[in-house]
Amino acid sequence: MVYIHCSRCMRQLAETCERIAATTKKNEKVRIVVEYFQSQATVEASIAAVFLSGRVFPAYEELTLQVGGTMLWQVLREIARISDEDMAAAYRRYGDLGSAALDILQPVAPKHSSLTLDHVEREFHRIAEIRGAASKASFVRLLLSKATALEAKYLVKIISGDLRIGLRESLVEEATAKAYEAPYADVQRANMLLGDIGETLRLAADHKLGEARMRMFHPIGFMLASPVQTAEEAFRYFDHAQLEDKYDGIRAQAHVSQGEVRLYSRTLDDVTEAFPELPDALAVFSDDVIFDGEVLAWSLDEQRALPFSQLQKRLGRKKVTAGMMREIPVAYVVFDVLYAGGELTIDRPLRERGALLDQLFMKAAQFPAKRTERTRSRVPQGTLAFEADIIQQSSGSIPGRVIRAPLTSADSAEHLAEIFEQALERGNEGLMIKDLNSSYAPGRRGKSWLKLKRELATLDVVVTAVEFGHGKRAAVLSDYTFAVRASDTDDRLLNVGKAYSGLTDAEISEMTKWFLEHSLEDQGFRRAVEPKIVLEVAFNAVMKSERHESGYALRFPRILRLRPDKTPDEVDTLDRVAEIYQRQLLSFPTGKLSS
Ligand code: AMP
Repeated sequence: MVYIHCSRCMRQLAETCERIAATTKKNEKVRIVVEYFQSQATVEASIAAVFLSGRVFPAYEELTLQVGGTMLWQVLREIARISDEDMAAAYRRYGDLGSAALDILQPVAPKHSSLTLDHVEREFHRIAEIRGAASKASFVRLLLSKATALEAKYLVKIISGDLRIGLRESLVEEATAKAYEAPYADVQRANMLLGDIGETLRLAADHKLGEARMRMFHPIGFMLASPVQTAEEAFRYFDHAQLEDKYDGIRAQAHVSQGEVRLYSRTLDDVTEAFPELPDALAVFSDDVIFDGEVLAWSLDEQRALPFSQLQKRLGRKKVTAGMMREIPVAYVVFDVLYAGGELTIDRPLRERGALLDQLFMKAAQFPAKRTERTRSRVPQGTLAFEADIIQQSSGSIPGRVIRAPLTSADSAEHLAEIFEQALERGNEGLMIKDLNSSYAPGRRGKSWLKLKRELATLDVVVTAVEFGHGKRAAVLSDYTFAVRASDTDDRLLNVGKAYSGLTDAEISEMTKWFLEHSLEDQGFRRAVEPKIVLEVAFNAVMKSERHESGYALRFPRILRLRPDKTPDEVDTLDRVAEIYQRQLLSFPTGKLSS
């Protein structure tokens, strides 16, 4: 292998990451990235932009490395030629594999390297494409053994998807705008459309951001909702709001073009294969369209949505069998349209997008598109019938599996509370309250969409350590310690509690397998695990606590469900925990909640 000697390569990126991590100030972080981009040729800067966003590959790409923490652990141990105990000690010093790598590789790693970003990028592709754990491990070993200890630290962090230098993609966008003197909004928009911060940077450098176009089958970020606690609070927000049930399924973006249909999850992964009955149903839309909606499990007997746990049974399968499709049918409830007939519609107000959605459903119901050969081969098993009033409420639903989400509105807070109770009775999770004048903001959690759920508050948390249970659960890892993020710009994970209950036996046994394969450190009774598994937890209260570094602990936490649709950087922050704590103090001013 011939290396071009280049002083501005992986080494410079690693040094830049160290400087970014050393400051907690957002502006300073951005300034360092700007300086770095400006010191680089566009090609290098664009590769670095992807890595600095905490990604191995651009967001839209389907590729994943499939290199787990356990493999990285083994590879590092082999390169450093140390025992498991020494490796565990190094890990324990930092709680982070990248930082442990710097420590243990210091004595053996080359003091200089000529590793280029271009080479790293190519190696990542090779690792992603090669099959078999042993082959992958040998490529990872080769790459890491060429790196200096500092380069290895950041290679490990990038590979494990755990950069943790407090740099979010939005800050990389900001730095791109500043470095190439482009309007921030144009950079954001191009990145949203392309799903590739590297390509966005290249366009910014060439002053061609205006050329970024929506591409079918390249998913864009999902608009997210903010929680509200009461119907009164929800009612106060907007002058003109639309209410929809909050369905308990999996968010999905559907791209439909000439009979070709793909569904993407919130993590922008292609999940079409998990729902073989949906492409055929969606192919009735004849124009190119992109929908936003929720995939639900649907009971034929009870004529209503089934709990999420039913859908999860299907999601766990590698291959969805005909029997599975009959036993747990799915439907797709559509609540937004992002693109139709050649036009990107996200800037139009919800009121107009809703009207457009109605028209599209009406047209598709009247003139179903001729199905292509490809989709006909996927004829669903059996037919579906839906609760009559759901179909009637929605204008022009396509009978069967694709439903236009029914809409309502409330004229008082009491009315809204009533509709909320009805949504719960229908088996849904609560209500979504959406500002009719709002545009669709991809990838942003704003206050234009609100969610009202039954639980007083829930938190999305990430599992950091697991333990074997007791009694009949002694053989499975059933006790989970979980954490929130320190803040939006500080990626440290801070534990806030430990939960034992909430998952089914089947889920626990599947999770046990995953945790065993993704353990970072075996501490005997306890295992530190890769912080990848996101849970939604409910609890009775938030307490002040010395037990955790976070300073808080949840009282009686219960796992509501696994959240495979969320990534660890989407978990809640300590600010939100503190906010819930403060709100409690207002409701229970006796201060009984602090322990
Ligand atoms: P949460 O997962 O609690 O953050 O709530 C947001 C999620 O609710 C979205 O990502 C969707 O998957 C889901 N959802 C269910 N029904 C709707 C709806 N009508 N509009 C928007 N999101 C919905």
